[in-house]
Amino acid sequence: MSNPITFALAGNPNAGKTTLFNTLTGARQHVGNYPGVTVEKKAGAYTFPSGEEATIIDLPGTYSLTAYSVEEVVARDYLVQEKPDVVINITDASNLERNLYLSAQLLELGVPMVIALNMIDVARDRGISLDAHRLSALLKVPVIPIIARSGKGTAELMAAALELARRKSPWNPLHISYGEDVDLALQTMAQCITTAGFLQDSYTPRWLALKYLEGDSQIQEKGRRNNPAVDKELQEIVAKVGEHLHKTMETYPEAIIADHRYGYIKSVLRQEVIAHKFDIDRLHASDRIDKVLTNRFMGPLIMLAILLGLYKFTFTYSQLPVAWFAAFFGWLSAHLSTILPDGHLKSMLISGVIHGMGGVLGFVPLIMFMFFGIAILEDSGYLARVAFMMDRVFRIFGLHGSSVMAYIVSGGIAGGCAVPGVMAARTLRSPRERLATLLTVSFMNCGAKLPVLALLTATFFSRSQAQLMFLLTLLAWVVALTAAKILRLTVLRGESTPFVMELPPYRFPTFRGLLIHTWERTWQYIKKAGTTILAISILIWAMMTFPGLPQSEEQNFARQRQEVTASTAQTVDNQQLKEKLAAIDTAQAGSTLRHSLAGRIGITMESVSWLPGFDWRTNIALVGGFAAKEVIVTTLGTAYSLGETDPENNASLSETLAKDPHWNPVVALALIVFVMFYAPCFVTVVCISKESGSWKWGLFSICFNTTFAFLLATLVYQGGRLMGFAG
Ligand code: GDP
Ligand code: MG
Repeated sequence: MSNPITFALAGNPNAGKTTLFNTLTGARQHVGNYPGVTVEKKAGAYTFPSGEEATIIDLPGTYSLTAYSVEEVVARDYLVQEKPDVVINITDASNLERNLYLSAQLLELGVPMVIALNMIDVARDRGISLDAHRLSALLKVPVIPIIARSGKGTAELMAAALELARRKSPWNPLHISYGEDVDLALQTMAQCITTAGFLQDSYTPRWLALKYLEGDSQIQEKGRRNNPAVDKELQEIVAKVGEHLHKTMETYPEAIIADHRYGYIKSVLRQEVIAHKFDIDRLHASDRIDKVLTNRFMGPLIMLAILLGLYKFTFTYSQLPVAWFAAFFGWLSAHLSTILPDGHLKSMLISGVIHGMGGVLGFVPLIMFMFFGIAILEDSGYLARVAFMMDRVFRIFGLHGSSVMAYIVSGGIAGGCAVPGVMAARTLRSPRERLATLLTVSFMNCGAKLPVLALLTATFFSRSQAQLMFLLTLLAWVVALTAAKILRLTVLRGESTPFVMELPPYRFPTFRGLLIHTWERTWQYIKKAGTTILAISILIWAMMTFPGLPQSEEQNFARQRQEVTASTAQTVDNQQLKEKLAAIDTAQAGSTLRHSLAGRIGITMESVSWLPGFDWRTNIALVGGFAAKEVIVTTLGTAYSLGETDPENNASLSETLAKDPHWNPVVALALIVFVMFYAPCFVTVVCISKESGSWKWGLFSICFNTTFAFLLATLVYQGGRLMGFAG
């Protein structure tokens, strides 16, 4: 005969374990002791209606599964070593939030379990109604309401337990996210545990790591005996993260873990699991704040105001330091250009190196300000509420509530930057949703695209410019979210991460903590992206410079200069001479650009770019725009050999385009959508690659976006032509 099925009853003291045990087993029980300790061990027998027998073990009542007390050690060792078929977790429904703390730990331990919602009579009398189905769906375990004292619901409970015992399918432990610092430590420790095969007989690596962080003396003792070297390594990680948490938040791992576990429970209960008829319970301070901040109507309004505030803060206050950097690099270029001899070296230093360095450092204030803002939201606990509120909307698109930050920073309100946007996606913990966000934030109308859009709308749609700009912002959102959905249905297909989102209690962030968090992340950006950005900047400079003009043309320009100088010399009109020479310089710059690799690519591309209606000059500007979208306008100016290429004042370019026979509103509109959606600028591509951990995704974003933009622009141009709008 096979062993009878074993069920273990686990629960907080006074949850009604003994009452249920007695109801189930009647007089058929015997009392003993757990080996070595004076904790009572009660076992009994239960007979199913089918006649099948089960052994039921009444575990000591505990609030937690960390070895702080003898009861806890006994209960845990029993679960881990004896491996009962199913754990029946009995909870006091009138005090559910606190009782679920143990349930969460049982889920983390990864034992097959059923939750008995006991004392629903008491709960009902207190005006609390509970949705067991909803709770079951969220926790992914059966939840059965019972009244242990009268035996109501116990038959269903046992049937559910039996079904689970028979299923014998592997049981995945719950992974609660404990915030970036702790999660990272857990990951490192779990890796170390897996590699060393450390204590792998009964525990999962993550669970062991968690116990180390919680300061579980029993597990640490075992670890020391099993493998002192690994134990030492783990202790070092624990000490490090402990010190870090103390420095940044004046707290310690255990507290963070408890906070997030409660946060997890709170977020589950808030999803229409529990409803209070009367507000008799005094509300916790956090709950009271949440009443306002996550209120169905007020919540989103407050959130919008806070996000707008953060956006303003990032882009307004960083302007000054950004301007300092710009002024410094401007001074440096000017200085170098006076002391260095003309030639390729000078050109490379100024347009490649200094521009590249400016490209890296120019983003630093932006990123710092944004991370500072995010650190406030994150450390105070508000970011979790934002995610909680936005999740319903973003879930539709296969994203996560936290994605909203990244889109807004990237230019969701028109004007922003995808680089800090990509960095903001860090707050997302699930890899697929994070990637989908990383790959689509660049569709937003960042500040660098605005001059192009402004130029084209002002030139071709001057009467409805404001409305058009608004529509383009909307279009960016629609395209970004749709693209995310498409990605999540194709290359990033996969289930959404189980809804493990925490509502940790609000806390007041410390200034020191904010500074440390901000600096850590900013430094990572500089370290990770810095050198690559510099290298690519030089590469792009080379593409737009080499191979240079053929000898004969160089001589041609030189001759023109001589002639002008000779003929104007007599009139002694210096101003006129300067203007004439500048015109020749401009013509030469345009000519050089046309001869460069980038120019040749632009010209070659005409064989396909006629589809969306772009000529080779536009193509060159678009190739240049990969360096930075701001460059599109200036490069367009150079390609049209216009002297005045100040992006703030494009009067001449605007006039030229308006008069040029090639240009018309349909071409402009096609170019607008192309600029909005084609390859992100290379700094963004570098950041996407670094953040996703693979160049594959950087390349993917170039190809995916450009293909998409090309199709859309072709549709606009060809559609417009068919409808007869083009000239
Ligand atoms: P244990 O410490 O977990 O063993 O909890 P007990 O079984 O001793 O129960 C604690 C108290 O709750 C006892 O007074 C029980 O009579 C009472 N109790 C248990 N289950 C229920 C129930 O479903 N409804 C009500 N009203 N009281 C219950
Ligand atoms: Mg008892």
